[in-house]
Amino acid sequence: MPSVMPFEQGNKTMKKLLGGKGANLAEMTHLGLPVPPGFTITTDVCRAYYAGNRQLPSGLFEEVLEALHRLEEAKGERFGDSLKPLLISVRSGSVDSMPGMMDTILNLGLNDDTVEGLAKVTGDERFAYDCYRRLIHMFGNVVFELEGYPFEFILQQTKKRHGVNEDHQLTASALQGLIQEYKAVIAKHAGRPFPQAVEEQLKLAVEAVFRSWNNQRARIYRKIHQIPDEQGTAVNIQAMVFGNRGEGCGTGVVFTRNPSTGEPHLYGEFLINAQGEDVVAGIRTPVPIARLAEELPQAYEQLVAAAAALERHYRDMQDIEFTVEQGKLYLLQTRNGKRTAQAAVQLAVAFVKEGTITKEEAIGRIEPFHLDQLLHRAIDPACEPDVLAVGLPASPGAATGQAVFDADTAEAWARTGKKVILVRSETTPEDIHGVLAAEGVLTSRGGMTSHAAVVARGMGKPCVCGCEPIRLRDGAFEVVVAEQVTATIGEGDWVSIDGATGRVIRGVVQLREPELTAELEELLAWADDVRRLQVYTNADTPEDARRARSFGAEGIGLCRTEHMFMSPDRVPVVQAMILAERPEEREAALAQLLPMQQHDFEGIFRAMAGLPVTIRLLDPPLHEFLPNLEQLSIQHALLQQRGGEAADMQRIEKLLRKVRSLHEMNPMLGTRGCRLGLLYPEIYEMQVEALFRAALTCLEEQLEVIPDVMIPLVGHAVELKLMRELVDRKASEVLGARRSELTYRVGTMIEVPRAAITAAQIAKHADFFSFGTNDLTQMTLGYSRDDAEGKFLTHYVEQKLLPANPFQVLDREGVGMLVHWATEQGKSVKPELKTGICGEHGGDKESIFFCHEQGLDYVSCSPYRVPLARIAAAQAAL
Ligand code: PEP
Ligand code: MG
Repeated sequence: MPSVMPFEQGNKTMKKLLGGKGANLAEMTHLGLPVPPGFTITTDVCRAYYAGNRQLPSGLFEEVLEALHRLEEAKGERFGDSLKPLLISVRSGSVDSMPGMMDTILNLGLNDDTVEGLAKVTGDERFAYDCYRRLIHMFGNVVFELEGYPFEFILQQTKKRHGVNEDHQLTASALQGLIQEYKAVIAKHAGRPFPQAVEEQLKLAVEAVFRSWNNQRARIYRKIHQIPDEQGTAVNIQAMVFGNRGEGCGTGVVFTRNPSTGEPHLYGEFLINAQGEDVVAGIRTPVPIARLAEELPQAYEQLVAAAAALERHYRDMQDIEFTVEQGKLYLLQTRNGKRTAQAAVQLAVAFVKEGTITKEEAIGRIEPFHLDQLLHRAIDPACEPDVLAVGLPASPGAATGQAVFDADTAEAWARTGKKVILVRSETTPEDIHGVLAAEGVLTSRGGMTSHAAVVARGMGKPCVCGCEPIRLRDGAFEVVVAEQVTATIGEGDWVSIDGATGRVIRGVVQLREPELTAELEELLAWADDVRRLQVYTNADTPEDARRARSFGAEGIGLCRTEHMFMSPDRVPVVQAMILAERPEEREAALAQLLPMQQHDFEGIFRAMAGLPVTIRLLDPPLHEFLPNLEQLSIQHALLQQRGGEAADMQRIEKLLRKVRSLHEMNPMLGTRGCRLGLLYPEIYEMQVEALFRAALTCLEEQLEVIPDVMIPLVGHAVELKLMRELVDRKASEVLGARRSELTYRVGTMIEVPRAAITAAQIAKHADFFSFGTNDLTQMTLGYSRDDAEGKFLTHYVEQKLLPANPFQVLDREGVGMLVHWATEQGKSVKPELKTGICGEHGGDKESIFFCHEQGLDYVSCSPYRVPLARIAAAQAAL
């Protein structure tokens, strides 16, 4: 494999070797589109660079010079020539796009000599010096890793001195002065002068781009987006074209369709008389692409044609970087555009309707995880927000939080459970951890294609950017309208943003829960035609059940009845039941609980009429409902010290005795699940009675009820046998003559490894198995589901000792083998055994794929994940 490949030799299938940018530059070259000539140093070289202790492999630079030589011939210019200098860009380009995370250098090849040559050839001194100052600045940042601040400061001072606002208004002589100052910054801070030898510039630049693969922001981005560290970046070396060569020039970024909504129109921004970095870095706020039609109509026409050609060719929405040099369009990059979940759905459906892709391809194009974003919150239309300012609607969704002004504070506050809105003048990729921690992002500068916008959209975070009325100063922001400060928001003050409209709002606003769009409904209907797995939901209230049903849930796979006991008005009754010393006391408490449970079950049955509802009998350790032992002991000691009333002492001592007697060192392995039902059958009897009474009420209302009664934490067949007898007995008692009108099933969770291993015995007593993979993971791996994540598990995942967090992604090799075995064994004795999963994994794409492969009947997940699960189940079946 060559280390260096000219654009004419590559193509779009070579992304692994050439990176996305390189492969697509090659493809566009073949398509005959206007791409400046160039070549790509492959990702192999990047890997070799790291394997070789950060040294360029020997012989590489000679190959680069050879390719450069061919470029010189194509352009009729020479690198480093003082008469006709060739200028090049050196740009990173990874396999999976990582917008703005790595480095790029433009205008390479300029020095004190060649800048004069460029001025002469172009007849434009100002332009030549503008390129030179940009090179020195970028070189300082990227190669010498200097802060941007001194360069920015000098630029601002120079503009002030010359009484201008915009960079391009600086004259040639002003720029010459600036260049001297920039060089002094390099000499002082880098400890060496800006290199005049152009080959040295090139070598340092290539090394710096490789180095940038491992900078902090790139590493964080890879972690979030699960891009392997060993992938490496390519380096693209390309002849420069100039968007900063006067008023007939410009540069911009355009999407072939709107990446926020999917609407079919060109969407993007450009800056007249500027270079690419000005746009993506969000330093100047660009103007909407439609204005290009007015300002440079010919270039706009070329752009419209190129955009259409690229979209047709790639059969997907494209994100294109372009430059216009003296009226002529050049394409510098194309890639499948990043999009919001909403746009992804709109686009997939639109492309099917336009005949570009099939329904199956449309389903395959949706990242199930992103559907979470689609179900975004919005500001409740009923509320009247106090709108402070309006910026660009860069990433949809509404968010409320406390204002913070730097990424570190955002991260620190979020860690303590606070909701924060990160407010910056512009975000740089260094802010990524703050963006990650924040509820939403607000910037005063930068366009909709700036890093802040792209990164926030990728993460599904609401974002408003380019909000110009906002001015940041000293840990606060002011809203300035017509030179008047109309509001000041300090650190910790509550603000809200609406990423769909760009509104910035004072204070907290009421957020409204999302609904499905017509396009998503359509796509989900296509998915339903393809998938084999059924999708159920985990829901404990009628409201959750209704929501899940509106998202397409086909039943309830898990109703955790203990959640019904936790409301403040019920806890005292539950406590009375647990603390009862005599059977009559317990009976009395249970009699109080029964109508409450019955009422809840009725609501759920009504919401799910016609669909199966799996009701799990009480599972958690009883002490979860009791006062905390430690606090109670302190209370007791204080009372003793103070010499409290005898009656109080007696009461607290009795309570303390009971709580102590129920206290367990390992409650998750203690008196919970069916063990409760065996020790205190009256509790399960009450629940079963409530359940069947509720079913009867619904039958009377002519509603179809399909109850599945589920027994938790079974490890031995005998446990299920006894509990099943209890359920059947109670059902006969309650239903009496109407028993034949109601079909119900009795089944078990498989969440104890022994149950999985002895599934053949257990299946004899079960109509269904529901894999409780939360507990099954906990007990199979021996990791506490409550503690592991903040402790060793984080370390394990970070160090890649495990492929993923096993509580999120099912551990196929361990827990998965138990699921496989139990399903096979269960069905061997009872072929009609219904099987499903109701642990958290039921809402995870990878795990859903596994359930499909294992031939389970359904997955059950939280209501908001139902659409995700429908798509993932369809993808698994494709
Ligand atoms: C499980 O263990 O996977 C399960 C669904 O039950 P819970 O999370 O309530 O223990
Ligand atoms: Mg469980």
